[in-house]
Amino acid sequence: DENTVIRKADNSKVYMADLESALHYSLRVEVGRFHVLEGERLKALSNFVNVVRKYLPARPYLRTLLNSLYVWLRARTRTKVLFDDFEDVLNNKNMDQKAVLSSEENYVGCQGSKPEFRGFPCSLWTLFHMLTVQASEMATQRTVKPAPREVLSAMRGYVKYFFGCRECAEHFERMAQESLRTVRTLDEAIKWLWERHNRVNKRLAGAASEDPDFPKVQWPTPELCPLCQVKTESELVTWDDPNVMHFMKTHFSKDNIADAYLV
Ligand code: FAD
Repeated sequence: DENTVIRKADNSKVYMADLESALHYSLRVEVGRFHVLEGERLKALSNFVNVVRKYLPARPYLRTLLNSLYVWLRARTRTKVLFDDFEDVLNNKNMDQKAVLSSEENYVGCQGSKPEFRGFPCSLWTLFHMLTVQASEMATQRTVKPAPREVLSAMRGYVKYFFGCRECAEHFERMAQESLRTVRTLDEAIKWLWERHNRVNKRLAGAASEDPDFPKVQWPTPELCPLCQVKTESELVTWDDPNVMHFMKTHFSKDNIADAYLV
């Protein structure tokens, strides 16, 4: 389509525009498919907003919004919430303080070569990798001790109750049922998600949903992290675990977030 704006992306960076797009799309579009939110689904929403407000190094006005959204939800998890009322909080209708979540999809690192490729699912993975890494970082810097599975459980709940790709949700739930309980530390949570994501990449390589300009690969590639993949005789990729962990913590660090194209 000739109207598509091409945003120049560096694949060694994480773009805040992608992270904000993930939040806009999840909270306004995916959650908006449910006019009434209650029970386990409402709880899943509240847990999702909670990990985002705690661990996403967002812009100050967005942090303010996420905090009010969480406080508003938490007071209502035993009742019913109308999406319309939730949306008023999202849009900061009361304007008590300056708070804003951008209201468009603006993918940079997740922009596909065509509109049907990449975009939201790419940004959702990016968001959750960022949250697992930031939860672990916070434990080293402050007195807060996030529970090892807090972020992954919130992701599991979000995917189960809201993720529009139902087939994806079933696959993900199966992986979670199989092994999520084996995650005992914050670093194991980082590793678990990285490893499962690579399994998904392997399964989807060559599928119709693959953007030809962004083939599914085992990640990080040797180009991004020369010391992560260990050379072997066989075709199989083997990993240097400490280098992968170091790479994950560097790639999904605050310092590696680029502000380009933010509106
Ligand atoms: P994505 O796989 O979305 O990855 C986004 C970015 O994350 C990459 O560009 C790269 O920078 C980085 N990355 C890649 N691998 C890793 C890794 N291992 N660890 C950390 N970062 C990494 N699609 C289906 O067709 N079937 C499914 O069953 C399915 N299940 C899904 C389950 C979940 C929970 C999610 C969020 C998505 C799922 N999808 C599924 C969508 C699919 O995984 C991709 O998100 C989509 O095809 C877009 O691919 P992409 O090339 O943008 O890269």
